[in-house]
Amino acid sequence: MKYLLFSDVHGNLEALESLLVYISKVQPDKVLFLGDAVGYGANPVECLLVITETADLCLQGNHDAAAAGALSINSFNPLAQQAILWTEQVLTEEEKTYLHQLPLILHFPEFCLVHASPMEPEQWHYLLKAEDAARNFPFFSSPLCFIGHSHRPGIFALDQRGVCRDITEESLTLEGNFRYIVNVGSVGQPRDGNPKAACCLFDSSEKSIRIHRLAYNLERTQQKIRQAHLPSFLAERLSYGI
Ligand code: ZN
Repeated sequence: MKYLLFSDVHGNLEALESLLVYISKVQPDKVLFLGDAVGYGANPVECLLVITETADLCLQGNHDAAAAGALSINSFNPLAQQAILWTEQVLTEEEKTYLHQLPLILHFPEFCLVHASPMEPEQWHYLLKAEDAARNFPFFSSPLCFIGHSHRPGIFALDQRGVCRDITEESLTLEGNFRYIVNVGSVGQPRDGNPKAACCLFDSSEKSIRIHRLAYNLERTQQKIRQAHLPSFLAERLSYGI
């Protein structure tokens, strides 16, 4: 079974369209979305529509929850707050209701899916270091958990002695004596210094995981952000992947 996992689109339609081209080439059996369809970018409505048409499963991210009125924006930085206030005005009540009812976490025998952390999905913790990841393994029973949220793709591996390592490689063959937390990165606003959109391919029969990067028409996205009078830094950061 071939799974395509993606996260953190954040209203970036051009990056999402580039992902659609990749999906049509790869032909995965299932497409799984880990949350944050909206926030930051100028096309939340269009992105939400494309995601719901494309993905077999959708999770809720913190920006989705905030735009739906289910999460206070007090914990958001000022630029993210401005973008949420703008997004709230653009979304219909029906779209907000849809975002509101999305699940925070899903457990399957083969893997767990969550936007932020399996330990406390509703607290929106960032798993940036191996020690952050280590605390989360007791909160899912499958060998594998896919996350998003930090916009930084990466893989954390836990060995049988309970030692957790941050694996920097973008592809990996899973080993039976390890458990893994895989961050699939961000489609619409990568923050690992690489401006290309990120997604993850998981082949469960080959037991392989690969983070893939996709170029897209970034200038067009930036132009739309400026035209919508969203904070200009939200456009600029896309050039640098920050
Ligand atoms: Zn996000």
